Amino acid sequence: MGMIIELQQVALTYQSPDGEIEALKDVSFHMAEGEFVSIIGPSGCGKSTLLSLVAGLEKPSHGAIWVDGDIVTAPSPKIGLMPQRDQLFEWRTIWSNVTLGLEVRHENTPKRQAHVRELLERYGLSEFLSKKPSQLSGGMRQRCALIRTLATDPRILLLDEPFSALDYQTRLSVSDDIHSIIRQEKKTALLVTHDISEAISMSDRIVVLSHRPATVKAIHDLGELRLLSPMERRDAPNFRTYFNQIWKELEINV
Ligand code: ADP
Ligand code: MG
Repeated sequence: MGMIIELQQVALTYQSPDGEIEALKDVSFHMAEGEFVSIIGPSGCGKSTLLSLVAGLEKPSHGAIWVDGDIVTAPSPKIGLMPQRDQLFEWRTIWSNVTLGLEVRHENTPKRQAHVRELLERYGLSEFLSKKPSQLSGGMRQRCALIRTLATDPRILLLDEPFSALDYQTRLSVSDDIHSIIRQEKKTALLVTHDISEAISMSDRIVVLSHRPATVKAIHDLGELRLLSPMERRDAPNFRTYFNQIWKELEINV
């Protein structure tokens, strides 16, 4: 199977006024088309940096990244980035929020708009087009943020801790929701999180990163858990086994 994302010995050192900050060191992994991979690592280890590199917003100091066979040198329309906060603009309606990406790219065409309408319909948001984000629940806002990212029809989604602003209960149902949308739309997804349960409940594989400078500590294939929804996985007998293993790898000391 052809790899849609490939990282080979990627390193990044930031130059800052106070000196150099080594964020990533020797990171290698790959993803097949349609795969859902989570990156988990301690806070500050370099996870967002890794997504910026894949998105073409930063350049590696060493190594290289390929997306769909081409070396990444700049942002590509093949990639959609869903940021940590939903970044919906309060003064804009839901419709003008979800079509913002199209506006920015000068792609606000009837064809694209029809696609967005279809997504809003499919995921239960079509009644809210003229509402403001503050009139929506946390979960619905997250769905809007995802639809905005899907509006430009990227093949790859990069998600940076998309659920971190939600309370625990909302998070469970929203992660279920977002997982099924990504599967249904047949996207390749790379999700960054520091939450072990979230990684196990959503992905096909999990890449565990070390403390900064981040390097790959382990890669887990979730095997038969892949066939279950996030909710079902949390009740599966081997959920705990993966959890304990990753907990150890992250060297969490309490
Ligand atoms: P994470 O997302 O895992 O919490 P980040 O990738 O945001 O970690 O950051 C990794 C390290 O790189 C941190 O020490 C952070 O302070 C530093 N860093 C991130 N962005 C920059 C930047 N633009 N310039 C300098 N240092 C940065
Ligand atoms: Mg981050």
